[in-house]
Amino acid sequence: MKTKKIVPILLMALIGTSRVFGQSALKPASGSPEKPLNIIMMIGDGMGLSQLSSAYYFGDGEPSFSRFPVIGLSKTNSSTHKITDSAAGATAFSCGIKTYNNSIGMGLDSTAVKTILEELSEIGWNTGIVSTSSITHATPGSFFAHAADRSMEEEIARQLVYSDVDFIAGGGYKWFMNRTDSIDYSDSLVAHGFVLDTNSIKTPWKGGNKRPIYLLAADGLTPKHKGRDEFLTEATQKALDHLSAKGKSFFLMVEGSQIDWGGHNNDGEYVIQEVLDFDKAIGAALDFAAAQGNTLVVVTADHETGGFTMASERKTGAFKRVYDDYDSIVPSFSTGGHSCTMVPVLSFGPKAEQLGGIFENTQIHAVIKKACGLK
Ligand code: MG
Ligand code: ZN
Repeated sequence: MKTKKIVPILLMALIGTSRVFGQSALKPASGSPEKPLNIIMMIGDGMGLSQLSSAYYFGDGEPSFSRFPVIGLSKTNSSTHKITDSAAGATAFSCGIKTYNNSIGMGLDSTAVKTILEELSEIGWNTGIVSTSSITHATPGSFFAHAADRSMEEEIARQLVYSDVDFIAGGGYKWFMNRTDSIDYSDSLVAHGFVLDTNSIKTPWKGGNKRPIYLLAADGLTPKHKGRDEFLTEATQKALDHLSAKGKSFFLMVEGSQIDWGGHNNDGEYVIQEVLDFDKAIGAALDFAAAQGNTLVVVTADHETGGFTMASERKTGAFKRVYDDYDSIVPSFSTGGHSCTMVPVLSFGPKAEQLGGIFENTQIHAVIKKACGLK
């Protein structure tokens, strides 16, 4: 009897919530002249459903993941393999194509395909990239560069110097300044309108109309469980402040890069701390989107890493009886590589409702592109 009374109230609450969110979804994509449309795409590299779930068992309080009204599942395979790598995975989002593993912004025939970031930049949008890996790594690289192989990080760095990206924060200064060809691109970055900071994301911005590029480690940033600060949330916030300052539309990609690295290491603590860190950055993005009112936030993953699961702990009790303790979770792995399990897609804001259901990873690109009014 009791539950019968509770269910309708819960349902009404849920419907009410979705109506509140739905109001912004019903607005035309760029139909509110006083509020530019923005896109925030957040990629948890290697973040499958178990990784996401870990935030609910190992974090404090309700994760930001819970704030999304629309949930979908994405099929991640590349064109060459059942299991994608991060390059083909990110190229599916940035270019909207299934391509071969290791491709950065290129099709199966190794010709460059224009990325959504490049297309939006051409029509006057501000653009930004934030990652906890080197900024030249497969995921961020696939949004601004074109390379036949992800290992070409020096070439990807060179292309970033000549790109139109308006805000950059991550690691990887060695790919710009400590190169095998002995070219130091720090002066070129300045010549192309960037302000280079290799010290801290906290440095107050004094660059005016110039473009910030924070490169805060030689390669990837320090893992969260080894002492990385609040870089990801602070860089996300700084990117939002910077990109929205001019009142123009912006596209921001934020990557929680190292969820994947924890998975490859089969290190549960590494994975979980990276997921919690990513979730915090998502909170900052959602706060911005909720206040701004015309911002689509899409959180997803390129693939799952590690065959991660939160298994019950097997114990031996009295009289050597073996049993599974359902109150003790042991983060476990089934592989040192990736898996092809579907990954979550969480969406908030205009057109979010189009990302409910089960679809190919390329569909995320298609929905974002359509939301932006691109053909
Ligand atoms: Mg990555
Ligand atoms: Zn990986």
